[in-house]
Amino acid sequence: MASSPRSRLPQGIPGSPPQDERSYVGVPATGHVCRPNCPAAQRDGLGVRRYRTLREAQMAGLRPCGRCTPDRVTRQQFALAQAKVTLDEQLPAPDLGSLARAVGMDRSHFQRVFRAAFGMSPKHYALQVRAARFKAILRTSPSVTQALYDAGHNTPRTVYDPVTDRLGMTPLEYRSGGAGLVIRYTFADLPGGRVLVAATERGVCALYVGERGTEEQLLTQLREEFFQAWLMSSASALASHVAALHSQAANRPRPAAQLPRDFHERVWAFLGHLTGSAPTYADLAAQLGLPSEEEAIAEACEVPPMTFPWPRQAVQVRVSGPTVGPAMMRGA
Ligand SMILES: [Zn+2]
Repeated sequence: MASSPRSRLPQGIPGSPPQDERSYVGVPATGHVCRPNCPAAQRDGLGVRRYRTLREAQMAGLRPCGRCTPDRVTRQQFALAQAKVTLDEQLPAPDLGSLARAVGMDRSHFQRVFRAAFGMSPKHYALQVRAARFKAILRTSPSVTQALYDAGHNTPRTVYDPVTDRLGMTPLEYRSGGAGLVIRYTFADLPGGRVLVAATERGVCALYVGERGTEEQLLTQLREEFFQAWLMSSASALASHVAALHSQAANRPRPAAQLPRDFHERVWAFLGHLTGSAPTYADLAAQLGLPSEEEAIAEACEVPPMTFPWPRQAVQVRVSGPTVGPAMMRGA
């Protein structure tokens, strides 16, 4: 095999296991293959062999250890996927205690592993989901207040609100299609695809993901969403935000060319909706209709898909240089 999916993962990224822990340990004496931290593989005097993939170890005649179950999604990955789906879908979001209980973990441990995996607390993640939902319904809602209620707000406030602050503009400016605003945008290549990131002086206002080579479609989407704004291509204005996206994406697996762009998200969404005990990678592969992609699925389960950050004031947008309106851009 020229390039195992595992070998593409960088080392030493916080939140992802070090390279050593991703390999598998074969113990010929027992005929088993283990995860590296399995006590069964760490007894003194055992001759062990490392394998890069589970399949390699199985081809060498070893069976998955029943104790560390290297052929199975870990309990922690399973719990995180379930928690993510709950926060994505449940309205209003459950509190930390009930969420931890629902996924069978101790509250403080859950809080810690969630933060390590997603780069933010469950509370912050829930806020981000609520902000995205608010934005999605703001245009069609009869009022800003109604949209806040519908997005899961208990006490709508439109000033200094952590949800409305994530629009990169006021809710009313958003409803008007960004009238009177200058929006800077640029493109970046991330594991999830080609990304368009756009911001006003107040912060990020759009982040779209598409296939590679779809810049024009992403730009059309931006023009349609902010149909009254002045759009301006500016890589330098958004450099710091793009750098933050790259650093966040660094430990995410890049799906192989034959897999769908949203492969990673699909694996996690599917896993998060399952109940019962943690499935094997082979079960997941079969149920997802991708029976030959067991290794890629195992890799996708190791880190959650990227959640795009919408931090307020994260973008230092320089207000200089020429601005170009939507009508002029088409001819540019
Ligand atoms: Zn084991």
